[in-house]
Amino acid sequence: MLDGAMLELLTLLLPIAAASGWYAASRHHGAKKSGLLRQAIGRTFEYPPNSPTDARTADEVSRLFKPGTDFGAKTLELQLALGSLFRRSGELSKAIELHEHLDSQPQLTDEQHHAVRFELGMDYLSAGLLDRAENVFAALAVSGTHGKASLQQMLTIYQSEKDWAKATECAKSLKAQGSGHRNATLAHLLCEQAQSAIALGKPDAALGYLQNALGEDPRCVRATLLKAQLALQQQRWAEAGDLLRSVEFQNPAFLPEIIDHLRFCHANLKDAETYMAYLDYIYRRYRTEAAALHLADELAQRDGDLAAANYLAGLLPERASLNLIRRTLRYADVVACEGTGSVPMLRSCLNALDGLALQKAGYACIQCGYECRELHWHCPTCRTWGTIQPAG
Ligand SMILES: [Zn+2]
Repeated sequence: MLDGAMLELLTLLLPIAAASGWYAASRHHGAKKSGLLRQAIGRTFEYPPNSPTDARTADEVSRLFKPGTDFGAKTLELQLALGSLFRRSGELSKAIELHEHLDSQPQLTDEQHHAVRFELGMDYLSAGLLDRAENVFAALAVSGTHGKASLQQMLTIYQSEKDWAKATECAKSLKAQGSGHRNATLAHLLCEQAQSAIALGKPDAALGYLQNALGEDPRCVRATLLKAQLALQQQRWAEAGDLLRSVEFQNPAFLPEIIDHLRFCHANLKDAETYMAYLDYIYRRYRTEAAALHLADELAQRDGDLAAANYLAGLLPERASLNLIRRTLRYADVVACEGTGSVPMLRSCLNALDGLALQKAGYACIQCGYECRELHWHCPTCRTWGTIQPAG
């Protein structure tokens, strides 16, 4: 029988569970409320923490419920919901106190202890106590009910600490458990280890990591770029060129990233014509703007500025862009306006266009839309690997 205080607690906590799907699920599927409420508690993390509603609800709940009050095992779900509310409203010491108290209760089953300790691990993580969080999740990683979720949290911790070897082991364990974990993540963690090996002057070890990365994700552009970097360091120009060109078949959106390296290869091979023919090919095939701009630079060097201006102007009717117009005018400016009074005016327009071009972000995350001026392999916003790509 529920007493008055418990009914008030239910009134406060059930809307949170209902908002996160528990109510609808229990109506439509008739599943056990206790298990679904725990899921609902987990889903509350999808909503922005520290909201005023959370803080107000936590205050009202804590007025009715004091850590240490023994409502019995049947109310464990409500106590976990209260702990979650404390954490979401930033009252981490209260959340930790509550979960540690619950963990000390000998009448809880193993499964209930695991649920409590997982919440405690999340408290430690929110408080920045990474060592404690890691210990809790490491112990839970072998548990049946919270194994995958704990491994996921450990992966987050190791990534934030840049402990790539441990992060790789976590990603491998998640993969072995059939969690549907993206192989792209594992490939990028191996690439991180390869980069560390390159920095330590261990190219053979780096190559081993990169082969494994490509085994996990054959479309991992980063692994191919790092293999090309190793080949360039060892002056294996033709091999580096082949690797760079193979990016086309992995993800042509990354072709702008290969151009400078490819130019370096062909300069050493003394084969500018093949380089220019490739730039022409990838512009016509993929409309890679950077290829057209680099080809114009090569034409200017070989045949003069007018040739570069004519080439770029020829592209404009089909596909105009700020950069193509800007660079066409830059090359045309030198030829057409020498000795005329319009030079200062034209150049101020060009400078304004340059300013506009600088405002454009060079890269964007295809997952969350985050924009940046440098390529990050790990999106700082959505924390996904390999989703930031050259824009346009
Ligand atoms: Zn993102």
